Amino acid sequence: MPRDKRYDVLFEPLRIGPVTAPNRFYQVPHCSGMPLVVPQSYARMREIKAEGGWGVVTTEACSIHATSDAGPTPEDKLWDDDDIADLAAVAEGIHRHGALAAVETLHHGAAVANRFSREIPISPSGGPLIRHRDPVQSRTMDKSDIREFRRWHLDAVKRAKKAGFDIIYVYAGHEVSLPLQFLWRRFNKRTDEYGGSLENRTRLLRELLEETRAAVGDKCAVALRFAVEEFLGPAGITSEGEGREIVEMLAELPDLWDVTVAGWANDSATSRYAEEGWQEPHVAFVKSVTRKPVVGTGRFTSPDVMASQIRRGVLDLIGTARPSIADPFLPAKIRDGRLDDIRECIGCNVCVTGNNTAVPIRCTQNPTMGEEWRRGWHPERVPKRTGAGAVLVVGAGPAGLECARVLGERGYRVSLAEATRELGGRVAREARLPGLASWARVRDWRVGQINKLANVEVFLESRLTADDVLAMDIEHVVIATGSEWRKDGVGRETLAPVPGIAEAYVLTPDDIMNGAAAKGPVLIYDDDHYYVACSIGEKLRRAGHAVTLATPAAEAAVWTHNTLEQKRIQAQLIELGVDILSHRILASVTSRGARLACWFTGREIERPFATLIPVSGRDPADALYHELISRRDKLKTLVRIGDCRAPGTIAAAVYSGYLHAHDFDNPRRDDVGFWRERVKAREQD
Ligand code: ADP
Ligand code: SF4
Repeated sequence: MPRDKRYDVLFEPLRIGPVTAPNRFYQVPHCSGMPLVVPQSYARMREIKAEGGWGVVTTEACSIHATSDAGPTPEDKLWDDDDIADLAAVAEGIHRHGALAAVETLHHGAAVANRFSREIPISPSGGPLIRHRDPVQSRTMDKSDIREFRRWHLDAVKRAKKAGFDIIYVYAGHEVSLPLQFLWRRFNKRTDEYGGSLENRTRLLRELLEETRAAVGDKCAVALRFAVEEFLGPAGITSEGEGREIVEMLAELPDLWDVTVAGWANDSATSRYAEEGWQEPHVAFVKSVTRKPVVGTGRFTSPDVMASQIRRGVLDLIGTARPSIADPFLPAKIRDGRLDDIRECIGCNVCVTGNNTAVPIRCTQNPTMGEEWRRGWHPERVPKRTGAGAVLVVGAGPAGLECARVLGERGYRVSLAEATRELGGRVAREARLPGLASWARVRDWRVGQINKLANVEVFLESRLTADDVLAMDIEHVVIATGSEWRKDGVGRETLAPVPGIAEAYVLTPDDIMNGAAAKGPVLIYDDDHYYVACSIGEKLRRAGHAVTLATPAAEAAVWTHNTLEQKRIQAQLIELGVDILSHRILASVTSRGARLACWFTGREIERPFATLIPVSGRDPADALYHELISRRDKLKTLVRIGDCRAPGTIAAAVYSGYLHAHDFDNPRRDDVGFWRERVKAREQD
């Protein structure tokens, strides 16, 4: 289908200093948990973005020196010439598809402990680290340190140029960059020409920009990534205060402004807290201050919103990180008029958890993310079927839907049976919890794709028994029947059913999501530590219940530190009036209430409740699978996938569905199942 004329503006080339972006789609820097550890995987992941039509593809933050070491988090490095080859491979892959390659140089300053390099962290005025609990302090940079730092930066820029990049960044964004730490009035206490007035605090950033420009000549463009708003009021950089003044001072110095908000949790706000395009009020002023092109983000997935940003003069280039992860082919789909095929990011930040747990990136919507090289997966292409067989998929949650979709794309005849009258399984239910509506996109995209496949037939209200399955006479059967929340409190800390719980009024998260009414004061016991307990707490509190959330952890929803949400979640619960009891284990239930043991001392307190909601563990709903196992001689293949195999995240369920559908007729290469990369040491001299 030809593309809609309204979107032509997105495909206009744009000059950025000495280089020209082929269109307005700009993949801004995003972490991936890959560089140096799995360099080929990393290069391939970025290359596929270029193949998908992004006009500019950027690396993630690229540390310039051993005094800026985020270990154990894998990150790009340009510490010495040995680092050039990995990055050159990234640039080459991006160039293969006609896109510009950009690299974001970074020095973390006081935001890292240098755990690996053991260098002393450096900062404008010394003192404890930012964001870190490590017992480490940074030291004050003297003038010679500042000169050294500028030299390291320059060396890194020269290496980046040598590696073939078209756009080279100076980075003063988020809370993790040294030039930004110099800008901070609250942090920079220097009394020399690098401290005090805003002009002085901006000096280092200006020098870096000027020196970068001199080093790259007319070969590369110089970009500045700058956080114009920190949401700290006058204590921080604001888009109406110093943020604006800094843009005014440096207006024409970079070739490109990449403007954002800080900290990272604000910039990468999840859909729970921020709508598409939410950064506009903060960054819109930039274009009125500079004549240079401006790129900004806002989890853009809608071509209408993107085109409007450009037409209204808010941005010149549409910056995306997460939407390019969820759908690396988003630009190509707009170009080809295939808007229905866009796999929209749901704003869950599972992608960020890869970086935050020091493993390669994964994505809820795009199961191929991070698997491009090691499994040879491609976000848009699946291998054709190798046989003529038919497949029955039982259960249409994220695992079943994805499995049926991919098998269908591969050309198999697929029957998808779902017990209820609704597709989506847990996604449909969980998307009705407060703030999670966008998560329904996991279902909607898959259902949309399946509806286009004549070879996939969907049967609703079809709760199948083993007899039903065998009567269908389909030789390949996939069980994707999901999981159920336990009622007995068994979880991580509590390994046996909680004494007395069977006599209490207990509702599971499934009951709540299915519409069961909670009564009286509610006690939620969270030994799951992700979003379900806090979302149910929020829902019930908003419905007027008194809610207590007890957890063995120190904080509510503690795993959401990895999705950058914990602080906001806990703040919201507190503001709503949810009583949070940390370090409490559900020891027993009596007629007077729950007995909650202190995680440290074991001493118990009592909490009365009318409804107890244990959010602890889930059981696979695998009865059908086990029934069939005993009669499997009638079937060629029988597998269980997703939560039915082992309860996990939605991302894991989608991945499981994709994995099975992709490899179902392809025996695994070896026991590991994917290609591994091994670090090769260089010769010592
Ligand atoms: P997953 O996350 O693994 O996809 P879900 O719990 O989201 O799991 O989805 C499982 C789906 O399977 C639900 O929609 C449920 O209604 C459906 N289901 C469970 N048992 C059967 C069955 N016997 N026949 C058909 N569908 C079933
Ligand atoms: Fe979007 Fe979630 Fe995928 Fe990240 S993991 S790109 S937030 S869908």
